[in-house]
Amino acid sequence: MLFKEPALRLKDKMIEFRRDFHSHPEVSFCEERTNAVIRKFLEDNGIEIQEVDAGYSVVGLIRGGHPGKTFALRADIDALPMPELNDVPYKSTVENVMHACGHDAHTAALMGVALMINEVKDQMHGNVKLLFQAAEEKIPGGAKTLVEKGALENPYVDVVMGMHVSNQLPVGKVAFGAGPGAAASDTYKFKIIGKGGHGASPHTTIDPIAIAAYFITSLQSIVSRNVEPVQGSVITVGAIHGGTKENIIADEVEMLATVRSLDEEVRALLHRRIQEVCKGTELTYGCNVEWEVEMGYPVLINDGDFIKKYAVPSCEKVVGAENIIEIKKSGMGGEDFAYYLQQRPGCFGSLGSGNAEKGLTVGGHNSMFDLDEDAIWRGAACLAQAAWDYLEENK
Ligand SMILES: [Zn+2]
Ligand SMILES: [Zn+2]
Repeated sequence: MLFKEPALRLKDKMIEFRRDFHSHPEVSFCEERTNAVIRKFLEDNGIEIQEVDAGYSVVGLIRGGHPGKTFALRADIDALPMPELNDVPYKSTVENVMHACGHDAHTAALMGVALMINEVKDQMHGNVKLLFQAAEEKIPGGAKTLVEKGALENPYVDVVMGMHVSNQLPVGKVAFGAGPGAAASDTYKFKIIGKGGHGASPHTTIDPIAIAAYFITSLQSIVSRNVEPVQGSVITVGAIHGGTKENIIADEVEMLATVRSLDEEVRALLHRRIQEVCKGTELTYGCNVEWEVEMGYPVLINDGDFIKKYAVPSCEKVVGAENIIEIKKSGMGGEDFAYYLQQRPGCFGSLGSGNAEKGLTVGGHNSMFDLDEDAIWRGAACLAQAAWDYLEENK
């Protein structure tokens, strides 16, 4: 079974789906309309909806005519709290909300997969589960809840796969990488509490601004001196606030930092050392250091065997072997697809959606982001093909 032609035939329909979502974006945990559109779509096409009580996520199930394994495909459905600055007919109609990460395209592609698989389900050995997942963009995310509520059970899901559009990759290309594919990304809020006073009498104060300078330097030394050089990690202090005037020593300084890593052991090391630096700073400077941490998504680990055996050969049937790219280095972005891959083998690939000729090169999370819609049918065909081929080979 080949899905390239069927996907091409559904191309315009999928673009229509995408534009509808694009003009009606909803932020994480608020995807009420999107949820309703997906539910109605599944109902209209006679596709089973599994009630999992996971916010606005929707789980569809297509049971094959023959018994077999279950392959889950995931599309995230949420948008971002930012204005759209593109002048396109399908521009966001909601103020300060925009599909700036391409999740509208992911949702449309998965709807295309649903139509194609539903058409041939009688010949299928096993099942395809459709995870329309809410709230990817906001911690704690929607994936964790779906996993906790049993979306990977009943029937037991054997593998899970997803793809994310990327304007860094030209449309027509897809990319996979074994191992880490997205970083664990955690957030710290620090407060250095000193003792304010006159800028001319520092000896009567505990100056939190001077301490903050040493504190940030100490944090940076964790990455340079404690983490093994070949391991990826980042500590970025992205916000610092304190003080009002040149001759007043402030009472306190607040900071926000993102802490990222590609390995759960490195992640634990970073947290241990950061908290030790907080304690050490208190002892050294006589201040108080308060900290709060918000743990983000875990490290996303792609299954190299699955990529080699299934993802790549199936995608080759859609885009050609010459258009499959191997990702050798992970970026430091976060992605809650990591939760599925903690539970099951599978992979999260990149779907080329950039097109320099059409001026579509701006990356995600930008008010000028838009994608080449020719990516959508390709994404749908790749996902449907991978699911079908896996179920055939494991029947
Ligand atoms: Zn995003
Ligand atoms: Zn995204």
